[in-house]
Amino acid sequence: MPAERSRPRFPAGQPMASFTLHGIPVSRGIAIGRAHLLAPAALDVKHYLVAEEQVEAEVARLQQALAAVHKELQTLWNELPKDAPTELGAFIDVHALILSDPMISEAPLDIIRTRHYNAEWALLTQIDELSAQFDEIEDAYLRERKADIQQVAERVLKVLMGTEQMLPKADGGEDGFQPQMIIVAHDISPADMLQFRDRSFIGFVTDVGGQNSHTAIVARSLDIPAVVGMSGASTLVEQDDWLIIDGDAGVVIANPSPLVLEQYRERQLAAARVRKKLQKLKKTPAITKDGTEITLLANIELPDDCPAAMEAGANGVGLFRSEFLFMGRNSKIPSEDEQFEQYKKAVVAMKGRPVTIRTLDIGADKPLDQSEQTALNPALGLRAIRYCLAEPQIFLTQLRAILRASAFGKVRILIPMLAHAFEIDQSLAMVAQAKAELREKNIKFDDDVDVGAMIEIPAAALALPMFVKRMDFLSIGTNDLIQYTLAIDRVDYEVAHLYNPLHPAVLQLISMTIAAGHKAGIDVAVCGEMAGDVKLTRLLLGMGLREFSMHPAQLLSVKQEILNSDLARIMPQTRKIMRSMEPNVIADAVEQLQLM
Ligand code: PEP
Ligand code: MG
Repeated sequence: MPAERSRPRFPAGQPMASFTLHGIPVSRGIAIGRAHLLAPAALDVKHYLVAEEQVEAEVARLQQALAAVHKELQTLWNELPKDAPTELGAFIDVHALILSDPMISEAPLDIIRTRHYNAEWALLTQIDELSAQFDEIEDAYLRERKADIQQVAERVLKVLMGTEQMLPKADGGEDGFQPQMIIVAHDISPADMLQFRDRSFIGFVTDVGGQNSHTAIVARSLDIPAVVGMSGASTLVEQDDWLIIDGDAGVVIANPSPLVLEQYRERQLAAARVRKKLQKLKKTPAITKDGTEITLLANIELPDDCPAAMEAGANGVGLFRSEFLFMGRNSKIPSEDEQFEQYKKAVVAMKGRPVTIRTLDIGADKPLDQSEQTALNPALGLRAIRYCLAEPQIFLTQLRAILRASAFGKVRILIPMLAHAFEIDQSLAMVAQAKAELREKNIKFDDDVDVGAMIEIPAAALALPMFVKRMDFLSIGTNDLIQYTLAIDRVDYEVAHLYNPLHPAVLQLISMTIAAGHKAGIDVAVCGEMAGDVKLTRLLLGMGLREFSMHPAQLLSVKQEILNSDLARIMPQTRKIMRSMEPNVIADAVEQLQLM
């Protein structure tokens, strides 16, 4: 339970006190609306003992509630909209499995029979015991799965108490203004989020969760501002409080003063104005002032992100993080057909533009649900291509699925975390084997599919001839390249201040990779966060980069920067930057680039 915190209040008759909470930003943007609290049903549970002769009736009451929830989940599953994020179906499956498990379907019945607790109390007792067991688990991701069990229990409790949580109608407010609602909850199940999809819910705030929690994953795919891990939010915020979610900063302001509200409305409007202005560039080719054409690609996590990529005018997908199809499924690896459908969906949605599908980059901060994170340094452990080569059947299945999708449009295969020549050779041999297996079954695919390498380990950037002679293209993963070059864990906030893209060593590695790729006549892209940072656009252009891949939301701002850039002026300044090993000189010179 989060520590009790007192809610600051003005005296009666005064406006509600404003307060600010900080959490983990998981989905960007600003939302301003009224709080709708989803109180955990558990808070209202009655505790009483049932008489001996009532025990079987109480058992039957719980069994009926379990059956009703089963039916409810089935209905949810059947009514999944066609465009629902794929993981939602999987989440409902997981909840159905939990519901059928004896730990939920039988153990509470025994508690009623042996201890004579009422059904709600029996269920909660069992959940408390299970929660305590989960708290002992070392694996952080598995520990988070406790939330799924609690969400299932809450559904059963709601049925038992006959208090189905009613969603308020978003039917307008004062002066015809429609105050849209922000969900505030201890936790939100993905299945519940699905119900919120068509209503006027514009943001989510939860007490628990992390970057990898289901709520975060779904909020991102729905493109709704969300902050999680905001301990105490659901107890401090009250129904109908005005809230501002700043999904970029991970901040929620409750009952903001009129001045603050005005400032955020201004920010929202300014952001909307900028977006609208940038929209005009959607069809403009990204050409520098002196005539060099630049390719702008999109980073996506799921095929559902493709419409946003098309909307932003992307030339294709430069990075499809395929591992998102594998996460949050309790280790159930998606079948070849299931994967094929998803890859094909992305390929079809991009209407002939190339789709670069990165093979499973699992591990470290993106563990498979039940993978045992026992390694002391998981970022240096059996992750990404290392994992795939150790699990050839999983890898081959994915490669076949990707190759099958290549019959429907231009597909490129991108291999993450390569460092050794034998890893490249083994990966290419696996691609060849997957092709041979498809050929044997007369299944169509593009035999000329390009295979590229992510350059995200310093060893790779220092051994480029090994890569360019074997690979069709390179893509620089600056997020990991910085992590491994500077020995900074990219998710550890205690060393976040040392994570510096402008460190001379990082810049040298990026520049060397671009130069080596071009000398060998192969494409080089940057697909890490640096590609979407407008403050670095000119520096990368000056280094010779001609392919940028980023989140669709960043694409038009980067394009605008490119349209205003003159390579003839940028190049000499960039050469000066590359000759320097002095951080201050580099930082100043990069600022100068913006003014050119
Ligand atoms: C990177 O490392 O820069 C990258 C693009 O991959 P990811 O962020 O998914 O590790
Ligand atoms: Mg990476």
